Amino acid sequence: MVLSWLRRLASSQIRSDAELTSYGVRTTALCVTAALAFDIVNQLVFFESWSIALRSWAMTIVIVVIIATPVTRTIGKANLALFRASRTDPLTGLLNRRALFEGSADPDALMVLMIADVDRFKAVNDTHGHMTGDAVLFTIAGLLQRELGALGRVGRLGGEEFALLCGRHDHAALMEHLERFRTTVAQTPVVAGATAVSVTLSAGVAHRDSGQSFEQLYAEADRALYRAKAQGRNRIVVAGEAVEAPLAPLSQGPALGALA
Ligand code: GH3
Ligand code: MG
Ligand code: MG
Repeated sequence: MVLSWLRRLASSQIRSDAELTSYGVRTTALCVTAALAFDIVNQLVFFESWSIALRSWAMTIVIVVIIATPVTRTIGKANLALFRASRTDPLTGLLNRRALFEGSADPDALMVLMIADVDRFKAVNDTHGHMTGDAVLFTIAGLLQRELGALGRVGRLGGEEFALLCGRHDHAALMEHLERFRTTVAQTPVVAGATAVSVTLSAGVAHRDSGQSFEQLYAEADRALYRAKAQGRNRIVVAGEAVEAPLAPLSQGPALGALA
C-alpha cells in the first residue's frame, strides 16, 4: 500500500498551481516522515538521553523541511511546465489540438465546433517570408483569444487552422461573435518590417446533435469549411444550413493584400 502510494506520488501529473502546492506539501511531508522515522529508530537504539533525542528529532524536521521544500517545488514546477508545454502551441501560446479536444469524446456533451483556416496563407509565406507568416498566425491567435476566448476553448489545430469549441449558445448571438472575429481579422493588417499584410479567413461551424460522435461533428465542420472556401473564402458557413449563402457580404478584393 505504501509502495503504491509512493509510486502514485512519483508519477503524479501536476496540472495546475493548486496541484503544484499539494504535490510540494505531500512530498515534503513524506520526506519528513521518512527521515524522522529513521532518526527515531536511531535515537532509541543508541539512546543517550531524552533531551538529545528530542533535539535531534526537531533538527531532523527543520533540516528536511528546509531541503525538501525547494527541491520538491523545483521538481513539481518542471512537471507542471512539461504538462503545460505538452498542451500549448509553441508559436501562438494557444491550446494545441490535443488540449483543445480533450474530453470532447463524451457523447453527452452538446457543443459547437468552429474550424477557421487562413485564406491563401501559402501566398503570405511565398510573398513575405515564413517569419511574416508566423507573425500573421500569432496576430490571428491573439484576435481569436480576444474575440472568442470567453465563449469556450480556442486553440490552434496546426498549420494555419484554428478552432473554437464551445457549449450551445444562442445561434444568432454566436454567429455575431464569429462574424466579428472574421471581420476583425480581415481589418487588422499585420505589420512586419516595412510591410503590412492583410489576410482573411474562412470558417466552418457545426452543432453537435445528441448521439453524434465528435468525429462526425469534426467532419461536418470541416465540410462546412470546405464549402466556405469553395464559395469564395472570407466567410463562415454553418453545416446543415439550407441556404449556404455568405453570412456577411463577400469581400471583393483578394484575400491577401500587401498594404505597403
Ligand atoms: P486555402 O485558402 O485553400 O486555405 O489556401 P492556403 O494557401 O491557406 O492553404 P495551403 O494548405 O495550400 O497552405 C497552407 C500553408 O501554411 C502552407 C504551409 O507552408 C503554411 N504553414 C503551415 N504551418 C505554418 C507555420 O507554422 N508558419 C508559417 N509561416 N507557415 C505555415
Ligand atoms: Mg489549411
Ligand atoms: Mg489556408
